[in-house]
Amino acid sequence: MITVVSGAAPTDRLEQLVAKRNAAASASSTQTRIRVIILFMYVALSIAGSDPTGGAGLQADVQVFRSLGVHGAGVITALTIQDTSKVHQVLPAFPNVVLAQIRTLLADFIPDAVKIGMLGSDDVARMVDLGLRELGGAPTKRPPIVIDPVLAASDGTPLLERRALAALQDLISQAALVTPNLSEAEALTGCDVSTEEGSEAAASALVASLGAGAALLTGGHRDGPPHDLFARRDGGSVSLTWLEGERAPVGSVHGTGCALASAITAGLARNLELPDAVAAGRRFVAAALKRAEMRGRRARFLVFGE
Ligand code: PLP
Repeated sequence: MITVVSGAAPTDRLEQLVAKRNAAASASSTQTRIRVIILFMYVALSIAGSDPTGGAGLQADVQVFRSLGVHGAGVITALTIQDTSKVHQVLPAFPNVVLAQIRTLLADFIPDAVKIGMLGSDDVARMVDLGLRELGGAPTKRPPIVIDPVLAASDGTPLLERRALAALQDLISQAALVTPNLSEAEALTGCDVSTEEGSEAAASALVASLGAGAALLTGGHRDGPPHDLFARRDGGSVSLTWLEGERAPVGSVHGTGCALASAITAGLARNLELPDAVAAGRRFVAAALKRAEMRGRRARFLVFGE
């Protein structure tokens, strides 16, 4: 007897192979029946910019996926020239090349979840929106999309053209979850997020007005305890939950936003419910923050593990 144990749906080819081997085993008196256990890996796709330091961007996303037992696929939206001191230059990819990467990949296999990070330019953001819309089908059948709406690096360098805000807002309407920090939430919604009420208004607007399934407004840049705010569509209204956070005594660490969104994406790829994926992602980043290490001249990097 051949048994297939799979983490994802087996492919047609695999089913054919199993049927053939079973038939051969039944037909032959000498052939020993064998038990084959095949483990499939879940797949998450990151659509993001390249950070050559590996501390953020697509390189970091794939490391996070892999640490959480998920295969990482990647579509590059932009090259950056950066070291641990600053971002020196941003070079968005050709928009048609981004669309071709997405179309070619999705024609071959559908990932279990998608994470979107830095987009660089308005044209690239529109191509990503188009490429993902072409997946078609009912929203519940499509892989969940997590958007980290990256606008600028910590050193202030813009990582998305200003005029791309509308394209990013369009993309957000496709998202199961959007994970802005305070300034990104303010830019996307126009709400003043300096107060608790303002943060709640921004998180609600990301769901109710911009159409995300949920929003996690990250509080790492807040004065005082870094509580996050989780907003989720709940029937016709939006439910809001404050999630308590503790500040790790490590100062500023490169790539925490990328890592959080990627860890949540990996959880969704592994079929966790959204609140569980958010909780697991926050725990993963909190542990990586405690292990953070200095790299190069200027930056602390997360150290991933499970
Ligand atoms: N480079 C790339 C490609 C990124 O995606 C990001 C953040 O998303 C950064 C740099 C900036 O990282 P940080 O905000 O830690 O400076």
